[in-house]
Amino acid sequence: MSFVFAPAPVVGLAVTSQSARFPVHRVFCVGQNYADHAIEMGSSGREAPFFFMKPARSVVPAGASQTLTVPYPAGTSELHHEVELVVAIGQEARDITADSAAACIWGYAVGLDLTRRDLQAALKAKGRPWEVAKGFEASAPVGPVTPVAQTGLLTQVPIRLDVNDQPRQQGNIDQMIWKVNEIIAHLSQHWQLMPGDLVFTGTPAGVSALQPGDRLRAEVAGLAPLQVTIG
Ligand code: MN
Repeated sequence: MSFVFAPAPVVGLAVTSQSARFPVHRVFCVGQNYADHAIEMGSSGREAPFFFMKPARSVVPAGASQTLTVPYPAGTSELHHEVELVVAIGQEARDITADSAAACIWGYAVGLDLTRRDLQAALKAKGRPWEVAKGFEASAPVGPVTPVAQTGLLTQVPIRLDVNDQPRQQGNIDQMIWKVNEIIAHLSQHWQLMPGDLVFTGTPAGVSALQPGDRLRAEVAGLAPLQVTIG
């Protein structure tokens, strides 16, 4: 097949302990999936899951023990961090149950769902879509993927984010309102999940604004950490 110009390259995440990369297809994100964060964002914490997406090209892959620099985006004065467990999908799935969702998981990574919170708040107030708040370039730094074959299924591990060596977000993935297998099942009712899809699974409480020069260290126990400097 020939193209009228060169197609954009596939975004590939680093994978621990091998040189082959994980090719990113789509990026699904779950909103308000930890009760304490849902409450800080003004909801009851007891609502059905809802989803938004980021473009695959918003993902910035980090290598092992690399510090990424991502730009402070234009158009906001309130860039928020959200540390999240990212699930890497390795198998097609359509309309599956939570009980069979584990087979779709290829691996896990640590990600940041960077958010123009001021714009998101204005969009929410008008019932408008969130892309400008969530889907901008470099809005999704993601660390190396650790295969599930190495980690086993993750259901109860600490998640945290430090900014300039100070704790900002701390929780445990067992605090998710909708668990990973339930999220995959919900997504599969509305999309045909494909190998290469990523799922950002929500963030614990403690989201706050970043400043240029801030140094972030995002961790999920057992996974390669993600280190980011805001440019
Ligand atoms: Mn998020």
